[in-house]
Formats: sequence, structure tokens, C-alpha cells
Amino acid sequence: MKTWVYIDHFKGEAVSSSWEALGVGKTFGPVSALVFGSGVDALAQAAFEFGADEVLLVDDPALADFRAEPYAATLSALAQAGSPELVLLPTTFRAREMAAMSAIDLNSGVLVDVTALEMSGDELVATRPIYEGKLHEKTACSARPQFITLRGRAFPRPARQAGRTGTLTRSAAQTGALTNVEGYSAGESGVSINDAGVVVAGGRGVSNNPALGLDEKATAEKGFALVGELAALLGGAIGASRAAVDAGFIPYSHQVGQTGKVVSPDLYIAAGISGSIQHIVGIRSAKLVVAINKDAEAPIFSVARYGVVGDLFTYLPLITAAFKQRLGK
Ligand SMILES: Cc1cc2nc3c(=O)[nH]c(=O)nc-3n(C[C@H](O)[C@H](O)[C@H](O)COP(=O)(O)OP(=O)(O)OC[C@H]3O[C@@H](n4cnc5c(N)ncnc54)[C@H](O)[C@@H]3O)c2cc1C
Repeated sequence: MKTWVYIDHFKGEAVSSSWEALGVGKTFGPVSALVFGSGVDALAQAAFEFGADEVLLVDDPALADFRAEPYAATLSALAQAGSPELVLLPTTFRAREMAAMSAIDLNSGVLVDVTALEMSGDELVATRPIYEGKLHEKTACSARPQFITLRGRAFPRPARQAGRTGTLTRSAAQTGALTNVEGYSAGESGVSINDAGVVVAGGRGVSNNPALGLDEKATAEKGFALVGELAALLGGAIGASRAAVDAGFIPYSHQVGQTGKVVSPDLYIAAGISGSIQHIVGIRSAKLVVAINKDAEAPIFSVARYGVVGDLFTYLPLITAAFKQRLGK
């Protein structure tokens, strides 16, 4: 099957799930990686090292900033000329937007957030969660090329082989666009919640510690400091419930759930989170959930493998200290 994989990146730094997509692409035969941007030769080389047999490189100053119009138009033009049967992308906001626009250009279809792919005869069957992750649907796209976005961390990341090369094919960008990027404001640095192997998350409970004698916001600051300390120790990211985000305790980029991010870490520690259905949707593919909650009846315990019924202000420092000791830090 003629397979292309789009390497999503921000300013030349690849989203880790792009390499996972490349690994999936390789299971269907030789694979071409699509690298778009400006000054992205190093990214093209990385694509070879992660397994691409060919890199279709579109390097143009007009692609320095991601804008859906020129990126999607470039993808559509390449696909029109090259006729791939399958275009894989990581499930990111950028890649989803591109896939949708290109699929419209090419009168094809998109399957998003796919967690498994298998051949059934000549047909590629995709599995994806539906109804807030309660069911898994198997589905196939009859149009070509089929665009499929893959859920981050649902597939293994291939090993990198330093110095590996392949065929580099340069192509022209489609540069027409109605939008311009005026600039960026710095967000937060640290481990991306999408790529994290460990997520330690706080809910409204982080603002509840009367013994501190502080208002809710100041208490939440202390609570999230405990959450952050454990996340940093484990090389993980900080997550949050919507209640914590809505209360202004932490920015939206940390929100996990139906209207936040879907995460798939190996370990998800939920502290002071009740476990509403809208939150659970975001952690169904976490491999191991640990919950700390004062309320033994909290629904989070129904999805947690391990649970601590108690105060997060007591138990988070104890867990952090135990990890420090075990890790020799
Ligand atoms: C359309 C829609 C979309 C939504 N999308 C999302 C979403 O994406 N993500 C999301 O999270 N929510 C979402 N929600 C909101 C969701 O319904 C819940 O309101 C929210 O998840 C509750 O957050 P919480 O568990 O932090 O707060 P609460 O429900 O208030 O729970 C706080 C928990 O902390 C415990 N607690 C309190 N103090 C302590 C302490 N000191 N130590 C230990 N435990 C303590 C309590 O026992 C309680 O279980 C959405 C709602 C709607 C309607």
C-alpha cells in the first residue's frame, strides 16, 4: 500500500507521535514521510532515522509558521500528483485540521484518533473510540487517499537508527493563504501532556486544605506545587480537571477530558479529582490509574487500579518521598 506519513512539528521539533505514525506506516511496506516547513533539513534526516524510506520535503519560507491553508494545499497538491492510498498523521490539532481540509480538496474521508489498524483482506480496518470511549468502533474508509490520524502513545515508537538515509524528494509549496501569524506568546515549557509517560493531575480538591488558613486560590497553588513536584520527579506532565481550570488554578492546556486532552500515559495519578464521566473520557487509555481522594465513594475509584482514601496534602508528599527514596534522588 502506498503510504505517506505526515511529520507534525513545531518550529522543527517533531511531535513524538509523528514517529509512532511512521512506525505504523512501515508495517504496510515502504513509507514516505512528509516534512513541511522552513529550514527543516534536520527534521527530514530524523524522519529517515526513524524509518522513512523517502522524505517528501517541502521547504519554503512561506511554511515557516504552521497555517492550515498552505500546509493543507501543499498536502493536497502532492497527493493529487503522487496518489498515495493512505496518509497517516498524528492526532494533533494541526494535523487534524490539515487532514480535514485535504480530504475535502480530494473528495476523500478522514478517520480520527485511531487506536489500532489492521488489514482485513484488501481493506484497512481502523479501530477508534466512540461514545466517549465507552465503545470501540471498527471502520474503514472507501475513498482514496484515506486520511487517518493516530492517537498518541497508542502505537510503539520505532527505534532511531543514527545515520540512516533514503531518497530525498523536494517539492514546491502551495503558498496562498488568507492568514498570517503575527507572533507567538510563550506558553509553558516542560513535558507535553500528550507525549507524557506519566501524568500527575489535580482537581478541585487541591484547593481544599482549611488547615493552611489560606483562600482557595492560594491553597490550590500549594496543592498544584505538590502535584508538580511529583510530576517533575517522575519526568511527567501536570494534568487537571476542568473544575481546576475553570477556577483559574491552572491553564487550560493542562485540562484532561472531554473538552480537554485525551491522554494515554503509562501512569495517571489523579489527586482531588472526583472522576466525572467527562474527565474519565480523557484517561480511558491510560495504562494504570492511581487515585487519591478523601471520599471513598468518588467515581474515580471505579477506574483506578490503586486508590488512596485520604487527603492529597498528606499523601502526595508521602508518595513523592517514597519515589525519591526508591529512585535514589
Ligand atoms: C460538556 C461538559 C464538558 C466537560 N468537560 C470536562 C473535561 O474535559 N474535563 C473535566 O475534568 N471535566 C469536564 N467537565 C466537568 C465535569 O463534569 C466535572 O464538573 C469536573 O470534572 C469536576 O472536577 P473535579 O473532579 O476536580 O471537581 P469536583 O467534582 O468538585 O471533585 C473534587 C474531588 O476532590 C475531592 N477532594 C476534596 N478535597 C480533597 C483533598 N484535600 N484531598 C483529596 N481529595 C479531595 C473530593 O472528594 C471530590 O471528589 C465537563 C462538563 C460538561 C458539562
